Amino acid sequence: MRVGIGYDIHRLVEERKLFLGGVEIPYIKGLISHTDGDVVLHAIADAILGALALGDIGQHFPDSDPGYKNMPSGDILQRVVRLLAEKEFVIGNIDTAIIAEEPKIYPFRDKMIESIASILGVDRSKINVKATTNEGVGSIGKGDAIASYAIVILEPKT
Ligand code: ZN
Repeated sequence: MRVGIGYDIHRLVEERKLFLGGVEIPYIKGLISHTDGDVVLHAIADAILGALALGDIGQHFPDSDPGYKNMPSGDILQRVVRLLAEKEFVIGNIDTAIIAEEPKIYPFRDKMIESIASILGVDRSKINVKATTNEGVGSIGKGDAIASYAIVILEPKT
């Protein structure tokens, strides 16, 4: 069994769509990144790469490469899933935490779980999504950024 952790944060800016866990969430701002800025999928991708001891998404999908510009983060995660299969591991379970002052994440939780499970090709019972605010503290608390943590357990393919 192997374990990995992932963390990601992006700035919220106007005139960007907001994607979290592969779900578009109606909001006045979105996350800025060279991809679609989905911090949840980025944290999960990093956690899986970490568990495989394969570095991080910055190494695999460098922001200096224009090929990844505005790439849907689901595509990035699917490539990471291919690496996982090559190494002959499967996902045991994934837990994620989203830290956002706004918008309210809870109404989108089920959709996110569905979306993450479908990108990874696993049963939704293996995925958990939690959300919290930053209690008004710092840049996340001011609504200038959204962050996400993810932790993953990988099990050898049987
Ligand atoms: Zn990111």
